[in-house]
Amino acid sequence: MVREKDIRFSRELAIDQLKADLISQLPPDAQVSTVLFEGPFVVIYSLNPTVLMENGDIVKSLARSLRKRIVIRSDVTVRRSKEEARARIMEIVPENAEITGIIFDDELGDVIIEAKKPGAVIGRSGATLREITRDISWRPKVVRSPPIQSELINSIRRTLTSESETRRNALLNIGKRIHRPKVIEDEFIRLTGLGGFSEVGRSCMLLETAETKILVDCGTNVGSREPDQMFPFFNASEFDLTEIDAVLVTHAHLDHCGLIPFLYKWGYRGPVYSNDATLSLMTLLQKDYIEVAARENRLVPYSQRDIKKMILHTITRRYGEVTDLSNDIRLTMTPAGHILGSSIMHLHIGDGRYNLAIANDFKGKRSRLLDRANTKFPRLECIIMESTYGGPRDIMPRRNDAEIQLIKIINQTVRRGGKVLIPSLAVGRPQELMVVLANYFRKHKLVEVPVYLDGLIAEATAIHSCHPEYLSSYLQDQIFNEGQNPFLSEIFHNVDNQSERQAIIYGKPAVIMATSGMLTGGNSVEYFRDMAEDSRNSIVFVSYQAEGTLGRRIASGVKEIRSIEDGRMKMLQVKMDIHQIDGFSGHSDRGEIMNFFRELSPKPERVVLIHGKRKKSQSLGQALSKRYHIKVEVPQNLETIRFN
Ligand SMILES: [Zn+2]
Repeated sequence: MVREKDIRFSRELAIDQLKADLISQLPPDAQVSTVLFEGPFVVIYSLNPTVLMENGDIVKSLARSLRKRIVIRSDVTVRRSKEEARARIMEIVPENAEITGIIFDDELGDVIIEAKKPGAVIGRSGATLREITRDISWRPKVVRSPPIQSELINSIRRTLTSESETRRNALLNIGKRIHRPKVIEDEFIRLTGLGGFSEVGRSCMLLETAETKILVDCGTNVGSREPDQMFPFFNASEFDLTEIDAVLVTHAHLDHCGLIPFLYKWGYRGPVYSNDATLSLMTLLQKDYIEVAARENRLVPYSQRDIKKMILHTITRRYGEVTDLSNDIRLTMTPAGHILGSSIMHLHIGDGRYNLAIANDFKGKRSRLLDRANTKFPRLECIIMESTYGGPRDIMPRRNDAEIQLIKIINQTVRRGGKVLIPSLAVGRPQELMVVLANYFRKHKLVEVPVYLDGLIAEATAIHSCHPEYLSSYLQDQIFNEGQNPFLSEIFHNVDNQSERQAIIYGKPAVIMATSGMLTGGNSVEYFRDMAEDSRNSIVFVSYQAEGTLGRRIASGVKEIRSIEDGRMKMLQVKMDIHQIDGFSGHSDRGEIMNFFRELSPKPERVVLIHGKRKKSQSLGQALSKRYHIKVEVPQNLETIRFN
């Protein structure tokens, strides 16, 4: 029987021992003042940090021997004041770098230098950066000035700066839990579906070992208004919020991250792991989610305050970085090709005893916006993957054909004096279409027509332009080498308010992209009402239309729609052209999933299919097990699978 008191005691002891080991291996002139465990990082505060910062080998070998992530920071007492540091940076960096912003992160001791030409801030082999570090004792980080400013990213930065004390305390608490010694020697790994198993929506799964419990995704069922359908099965007996060590977010769609702030409202104070692109996008979508719910008198599951708590507890890591989630699980995120920042989560459990990857929404082929999902892993015993389009008849049209079809519809509609409405989710599809439209326009294959981005889509696009490192290599090449940023094309215009919306509706031919994608609310419905009865107009659906939504009814050809305007019922005659183009999906179709599996290296011995209608997943499962002679399972919600 292990007692809580003993665990706590051995935790403190192990941490003290680790600190002592660490300090004894560092050169004395580094003058270490403190060693702290901040989240997954071991942070060494030094009075003379340049010794360690300039000699990366010392830190590298230390990290290897301790098997921990080590970060060097200057002690607060040796950092120059922010005013002085700012002035010194401006003096040291040559003017041609065109610095556009200098942001201090007190908590990390970092200074972020935003410049139009980052290379000039770095200097030859990093010489300028080293000079800055030595001079101001803040650690400089250089980023390219985003071509479009994102209000949301700025507000996340403000939150992190103004609440740095709260964040630091949160990280210290998380750190204690991560770096605890192992107490239980039992070895088991089990996975329970709390949502999104044999269904699409409210994705949430619980992964347990003897030492650790983590949640992967915590989404809502966007289409549903009934609480028992909206939420994952939080009442499952395995689920106890106080025992959760970490929450991982695969990507920012609400069916994967919509209820994470709800966990904080409910008392969770552990970490969320994602990358900075996902953090920005999910914050944007969660804020919108509760605003729309409040406006439409629906259940509002959490407040802005809870979103803020989530931000303060989020630890962002980049693709490929290895992170300790606990004393027996290591996480590495790799690209999933689905939306900006989307990740396949690779978990290395019990010193490599078992390795599993979770591909909860992925794209097997590259799109214009993103490179395709990663298929190479150091080790892999099991893959857990989505199967939304795993049915035998799920064959998506070729990308190129979809592009040509879209351009043809727009050209025809505009030439007859009409407008094109494209209802869409805010994130993913619209930015993909923007790249397509900008390219065809540049090649004179698209008529000259303004493309309006309504509401959230504009902000989501700004977030894309602030995180170019997550975009496809094709797009990065276009942006950085050819100076052609499609998001900055002259054809795009943002729509911010009602009077602009009215002007567009009564104005000249145009293309309008607006949320929501299934016409379940938002501005797309408003545009639809005003455009439906004009036969010159077109509507183009580019995403899945769920059962019971207005989008589904229109796409299936219903010509009379009941509409309420100014409190009066009115019958709307749908005379506009209706089109559905499937080729822009961010998901993989049956062939892509099979191909993804074929290319997986190493080949896993076990497959778990989730995130799909049961029949489709089962059909895919049969195909996979027949071809590869492997174990394929299609569990339902509340079922548990044991891995070893
Ligand atoms: Zn998704």
